[in-house]
This record gives sequence, C-alpha cells and structure tokens, in this order.
Amino acid sequence: MTREIRGVAAAPGVAVGPVLWLASAPTTSATDAPGADVDAEIARVEAAFDTVAARYAAQAETARGTAADILTMTAALAADPALLDQVRAGIRAGGPTAHAVTEAVDHFAEQLTALGGMMAERAADLRDVGQRVVAELLGVDPPGIPDSAVPFILAARDLAPADTATLDPNTVVGLLTVAGGPTSHTAILAKALGIPAVVACPGAVEIAEGTEVVVDGTAGTVEIAPAPGRRTEVLAARARQQDAPTGPGRTADGYAVPLLANVGSAADARLAVELGAEGVGLFRTEFLFLGRHSAPTIDEQTARYREIFEILGERPVTVRTLDAGSDKPLPFLKLSEEENPALGVRGIRLASVDEGTLDDQLTAIEAARAATGTPVKVMAPMVATVEEARAFAARARELGVTSRGIMVEVPAAALRADRLGAEVDFFSIGTNDLSQYLFGADRMSSALAELHNPWQPALAETIAAVVAGARRHEVAVGVCGEAASHPEFACVLVGLGVETLSMAPRSLAGVRAALAAVTREQCEQAASAVLAAATAEEAARAARSVLRGGDR
Ligand code: PEP
Ligand code: MG
Repeated sequence: MTREIRGVAAAPGVAVGPVLWLASAPTTSATDAPGADVDAEIARVEAAFDTVAARYAAQAETARGTAADILTMTAALAADPALLDQVRAGIRAGGPTAHAVTEAVDHFAEQLTALGGMMAERAADLRDVGQRVVAELLGVDPPGIPDSAVPFILAARDLAPADTATLDPNTVVGLLTVAGGPTSHTAILAKALGIPAVVACPGAVEIAEGTEVVVDGTAGTVEIAPAPGRRTEVLAARARQQDAPTGPGRTADGYAVPLLANVGSAADARLAVELGAEGVGLFRTEFLFLGRHSAPTIDEQTARYREIFEILGERPVTVRTLDAGSDKPLPFLKLSEEENPALGVRGIRLASVDEGTLDDQLTAIEAARAATGTPVKVMAPMVATVEEARAFAARARELGVTSRGIMVEVPAAALRADRLGAEVDFFSIGTNDLSQYLFGADRMSSALAELHNPWQPALAETIAAVVAGARRHEVAVGVCGEAASHPEFACVLVGLGVETLSMAPRSLAGVRAALAAVTREQCEQAASAVLAAATAEEAARAARSVLRGGDR
C-alpha cells in the first residue's frame, strides 16, 4: 500500500525510481591490531591522505561551479597539517593506524560542530575525508554511489560533496537524505545539478533497498510504493518540465518577473547565461576571500569581477559585498573568536572593524563595471539599522557606485523597511538568514528544518512588510534566498509584490514554468491565502488550491 512521508523540499522537481542506499563507510576500532613498525605506519597514513587529497583535487578539476569549489575546499581539508599531526600522535601512542584516523577526525569534527553555522557543515566534509582515508588504509572500496543499470533514487543519511559532485543526473534521478537542511551541501548541489531532492526526512530510514518511491522535491514529500500508473504520470511531468518555456519570466497574463541567478564563480555565471537568466540577482563574492591569509589586492579583485561581468555582458549584475565573519573565518581579518558566530561580527558589521576591505572591494567592483559597461548594482549583507544602511550607501556613492542596496535578512531591517527605504535604491530579501533570525533557528540544523519551510506564514508576513515599506520610497524589492527557487512559493512572492526572483541557475526553468501557468491575480490570491493561514501546511494547501485553479 502507498504511504507518504514528509521531509523538507531541497531541490525542485519530481522523480520516480527504486531506492538505492549509499554504500556504508568502513568502521575501525580501538581494539584493532596496531602496526608493528610505527615509522612505516606513519608513512602509510601520509600516503593515504595524499591519495585522498589528490582524488578530491582531480574531481574538482572535472566538476563545475559550486561542486568544484566545494571539492577544492575538501581537498584542502584532506591536506590539513594539524589533522595529520594528530593522526601521527595517535599512531605513536600505540593506536591502530586506521582508528587513529577515525579518532583525529572525530576530534576535529566535534570542534567544528560546536562552532555551529557554516563551520558545522564542514564536519560532514571532514568525516568524508576520514572515511576515504580509512578505506584506503584498509584496502576496501570507499563509501560511494551504488552501480545500477536503471535510473534510481539515491538515499543516504547525508551526502558529502565527494558523493554529490560525481552524480550523473541521468542515473541518479532523485535524492533523499535522512539528515541535512534546505541550505546544506546536498541541497545546494542537487539544485546545481537539477536533481529533485528531499532532505531532513527521518522516515526514510524505513525504506528498504529497491523499494519504488516518488520523490517530490518541490513539495518535500516521498511516496513509498506508489500505485501502478503513478510512474507514467511522474515521467510525463518530468518530460513537461524539460519542455518548459524559455525566455524572460512572466505570468500567463504577461506580467514580467525578471528571473535572475545566484552565482559564486565564473562557471556559475556561464551556466546562468546558458539557462536563460536575465541577469544576476546575487553575486556571492566570498569565493575570492576564503582560505586566504592576506586580502586580495584591488587589481586582483577587479580582474575576477571583470571576468564575471564580461560573461553577463549587458545583463544586470547585483554584487553583494563580502559576507563573512566568524562563521566563515577569514584569517586576514584577524577577528576575535565569538561564542555565537551566527550572531557575531558578520556581513556589513565587518566594516566597523575593517573599513579598508569594504573600500577596496567597492573600488574594484566600480573599476570592473567601468571596464565592461555591465549594469552593476551593489548591496551589503546583514544590514540591521538605518545607520548601517546610510553609511554603506554613502561610502558606495563616494566610490562611484550608482545603484546601492541592502539585503533584508535581519528581522529589524524588515520591520523598519519604510525607514531603510529612504537610504537605498533597492532591497534584496535573503530568506535563508531572514528565516534563521525570524524563527531563531540555525539554518544548518536538520532538526529545525521545518522552521525554514518557506510556507511558514510568518515569513510571508515579514516579506509583505518589507514590500509595504519599500513602496513608500519606490525602492525595488527582489528575493534571492532559497525560497525564490521554490516554483509555487515563487508565485506567492510575486503575489506579495516582489518584483524579481534570484535563484540557483538550474532552478530557473521550474520557476519560469510555474509563473507561466498562472495569472498575476492568482499569485495575489495565493499570497492572501498564505497570509490568512494558521500553519505552514495550511498555507501550502491553500496556495496550491488557488494556483492550480481550485482543483485540489
Ligand atoms: C540569504 O541569507 O537568504 C542569502 C541569500 O544569503 P546567504 O545564503 O549567502 O547567506
Ligand atoms: Mg544571508
């Protein structure tokens, strides 16, 4: 009999197939026999780390965009001298070689988890490194994707970047994970690859290998053992999605909603153009700064921004200034440690401790704009107060930036949108952090993923307040958080008065198709239904009923 379980929608689309579980990792124990020759064991473990780091680096060479960036960072983790030192110490203390790796990895992974935020997410990557080194030492296959002649749904407790980066979307047609959140690596990479995904689905553990399921990465549901005939229905829906409309975003009655892309590298920018993005709504610039011990020079930054602006040509690009702080530590900023990094010195707050970095970045962005002629806007992340917005806009104006905006991702900024609107030209709502701070729920926590469900009526109400504040000043409002990539919720955002939507490039087709199937009035009615709902579930049901013409 068919049974439905719920998780969190992580990458849109629907897929059907048998479930195959990710091969499990090798285990080690303190009671395993230690090697006889300590120096030989140390040499063996060093070689195993080298091999694993080289494999990640080789995968990074062949991967694209986000996957390549994540694999490069994981290769660096595998080459971390502190990790290897701890493993050597474990072997010298008489421990079994492979278990010394497990223990060292556990030690560092626990520290990362305790830091929370982005650093906690690196713990999964570090454990992946450890499992691959252990497999290498034991001479067994590394944990990985099962082989299958037929397309399947890959199920796992969680997926590490090395697993996801090598996925072939023709074989792995859907993803299902027990852990993870809507902003985890699994979600980001699944979207980048265009594979429907449901994450944070504890009920998945009961699904036996080979059971047929339907994964709905838009609704966040999994149908176990679907009725006969359902398979044909799902395959037809997928085919329709592949034939989705192209061209600019618009509703069925012709209301234009520019569909923009979120990019973090030149590879992302190329993909965005290929998939018909009308511009870039969020250019995350952190990639230029991460892992560096000195700040990139103005010339270096200008060259990298130029590269991306040239790819976009005449399409507009919104650049976000550096959004890093204690949860994405940048060694050159010399920030002190914080108890609660997500609530610490991050985003625009960095300007209060290091003005030079912001000035250099604005100078480089403006130089790249002048050299390419690309229409460029610049926005600051994590703005909470009028003073911050005012100071940023003044500095950007002095350095020649013509269109200045802020991300609205702190509830204080949303509440005071009417005041902040007097300071800037546009708002871009970052629903990932806005949900995190609105609900007091860590965006990386799979246990709290339901609070990051975009259908939570409090999120819509906050967005409505931002739109109302913006309208008093004719300030444009876009959304660039993950909520914009949800096809049905994207229609609700349009109904709430949001003018542009920015998302991972591979999400564009689904949102374009959803908008093309509804009128602006239906979007407005769906938005009213969400605002009137008491719960997220009620909101989703009511909005879907309006958007599907009242048939459900
Ligand atoms: C957001 O917070 O919604 C956002 C788009 O920014 P980031 O995910 O980079 O924090
Ligand atoms: Mg954010």
